[in-house]
Amino acid sequence: MTVSTCLYEGKAKRIYQTDQVNELLVEYKDDATAFNGEKQAVLSGKGRLNNEISARLLAKLQEDGVPNHFIRKVSDREQLVQAVKIMPLEVVVRNVAAGSLAGRIGYEEGVKLKQPIIEFYYKDDDLGDPLLNRDHITELAMTDSETLDAIEEQALKVNTILSNYFLSKNIRLIDFKLEFGHTETAGQLILADEVSPDTCRLWDANTNEKLDKDVFRRDLADLPEVYEQLLHRLGDA
Ligand code: UDP
Repeated sequence: MTVSTCLYEGKAKRIYQTDQVNELLVEYKDDATAFNGEKQAVLSGKGRLNNEISARLLAKLQEDGVPNHFIRKVSDREQLVQAVKIMPLEVVVRNVAAGSLAGRIGYEEGVKLKQPIIEFYYKDDDLGDPLLNRDHITELAMTDSETLDAIEEQALKVNTILSNYFLSKNIRLIDFKLEFGHTETAGQLILADEVSPDTCRLWDANTNEKLDKDVFRRDLADLPEVYEQLLHRLGDA
């Protein structure tokens, strides 16, 4: 496989064209950002750890029937993925109140929700990624109602699979963010982007110790050390 032009550089990843039509290379960087880029650091090892953890979680989701863009890991920091036209939508699923939800509805962080809550956010840095409802999404002509139904169904399926998986490692899946898009080839709706401790909140089931990017956002611990510990707990399967 030959890698050519960098098509896109984001806060935590670079995307490259390859010589295979409809296959892209994702390089996970060591950069960490929070609060819409206001807080930044380069954390040695982060790219490798997120590439490994995301590869495992996306492969697990595929095995359990959630189609996604992951093809294979090709190096420490790189994975090959299907080319997908990503929708400018962040789909957040929550099981426990934390982060922005706790503030929005006045719950203490850690309160278990009666049922999972799905939220949509507009991926737009200039607007500060605002919360959207389905009417806003229709107004923005982002997608149709059937596609939103399919996204919600997939998001809840991911929640069930990953909650059970993490619980088998004595870890609670508090909340997470997903992104979806349509494949360049068949226009099929699939899960894309990463699924990692950068995009999930994960707490130790006994101690509530944080095993995710909140350790960086809130200066609680050394992020690469925590991600290494998490990977160790995930073990071989
Ligand atoms: N999240 C993310 N990218 C974002 C915003 C949120 O991956 O741009 C994840 C975040 O890690 C958490 C979940 O989505 O697992 C919910 O985040 P929240 O809305 O509480 O925002 P935060 O408190 O992280 O700003």
